[in-house]
Amino acid sequence: MTSRARRPLVLCYHAVSPTWDHRLCVQPDLLLRQVRALSRYWKVHATFDDAFRSAATVFPALEQLGVTVEIFVCTAFTRDGAPLTIPELAGDDPAELATMTWDDLRGHADRGVELGSHTVSHAHLTQLADAELRHELADSKRELEAELGRPCNQLAYPYGEHDERVRAAARAAGYSLAYGLRGPKGDPYSAPRVDLYRRHTPLRTFLRVLL
Ligand SMILES: [Zn+2]
Repeated sequence: MTSRARRPLVLCYHAVSPTWDHRLCVQPDLLLRQVRALSRYWKVHATFDDAFRSAATVFPALEQLGVTVEIFVCTAFTRDGAPLTIPELAGDDPAELATMTWDDLRGHADRGVELGSHTVSHAHLTQLADAELRHELADSKRELEAELGRPCNQLAYPYGEHDERVRAAARAAGYSLAYGLRGPKGDPYSAPRVDLYRRHTPLRTFLRVLL
């Protein structure tokens, strides 16, 4: 271990399963190898978009590694833990797409997991009219705060898609931080994350973070 303070590194994951062969799903043992390798050099914050129920299987191991965890929730689906039935995932197994319920999320929050908004319906924000954009950003925040009884100040843009109008709307809706995917640091409304997938062996993980 180094005595120097490790710089923060935010990772983006989706589903976690040893058996679901899907581009959005990482096997739990691979995910933990990725995080363990990176944690030697960075202070890792692991975020999980879409609140897939399967992601929770790795939370205890991540907590043991000292890695903070955050879930980004689409409120239209999480009401009853419905599968994330967005057009991009049509035809995929609904059981694998199951999302966390409000009770699940309250339980994770009570154990220290952070919770943020991933909008209401996982829309392509840059394509929405102003009123729809406001609805996706403000109503998801409001519902998360009402259900969880705590402020919701963070947002992750679906598909990592944002532009100047979307970033301004995120600020106007009251968020203090909004994550995209890869990109430069500096703007809290386009905070970068490194998205990792099943092709990322520990070596490829380093290359993805560094290049
Ligand atoms: Zn998503």
